[in-house]
Amino acid sequence: MSRTSPTSCAGGDDMQVGRRDFLRLTASAGAGTAIGGLVGLGVTLAPAEARAQELRIKDAKTTPSICPFCSVGCATLIHTVDGKIVNIEGDPRSPHNEGTLCPKGAAIYQLHMNPNRATKVLHRKPGASDWDVVELEWAMDRVAELIKQTRDETFIEKLPNGKLVNMTPAMFALGGATLDNEFNHVCQKFWRGLGVVAIENQARI
Ligand code: SF4
Repeated sequence: MSRTSPTSCAGGDDMQVGRRDFLRLTASAGAGTAIGGLVGLGVTLAPAEARAQELRIKDAKTTPSICPFCSVGCATLIHTVDGKIVNIEGDPRSPHNEGTLCPKGAAIYQLHMNPNRATKVLHRKPGASDWDVVELEWAMDRVAELIKQTRDETFIEKLPNGKLVNMTPAMFALGGATLDNEFNHVCQKFWRGLGVVAIENQARI
């Protein structure tokens, strides 16, 4: 049976669907829906989609920005209405992404507008099973206290062979994809200044 032959369920033959068959079957299935019916009649939805997009960003303020997710650094346009983000899309003026975004970048909107986004600092005491909401100031002090304590306890000035290293192997710095280049640059300077040598980032350094 060739790849383009009709499908068959009889006679125990393997069912194979050629490209033409697939398109025909897909069109038939789509014709059962309103959109499928329109598409089947040759109606293009592109103008309606463009109009919907135009309405969504009508009167919005446009601010140029950069996708934070990877070092490609695609340019974006952020549309806001009354200070709230209503849309983020690729900037067509950008010479390297020309208005496009990859699937990750295209989902950037949910970084900001997301009901699951954590907005409070949570702390779980050693041995506890529940999280407590704590003040950011308290959490920052606690982190600083533990960093200082760990560094003091584990700092190695020289190796047994006398080589000067000034480092601690007890801490690891892991950056996040939503940190921008500049912040990551400051971060790694900070960690190196403390003697941390294990520094990693998902995307940018
Ligand atoms: S994650 Fe995608 S959209 Fe964002 S900068 Fe990288 S390639 Fe561009």
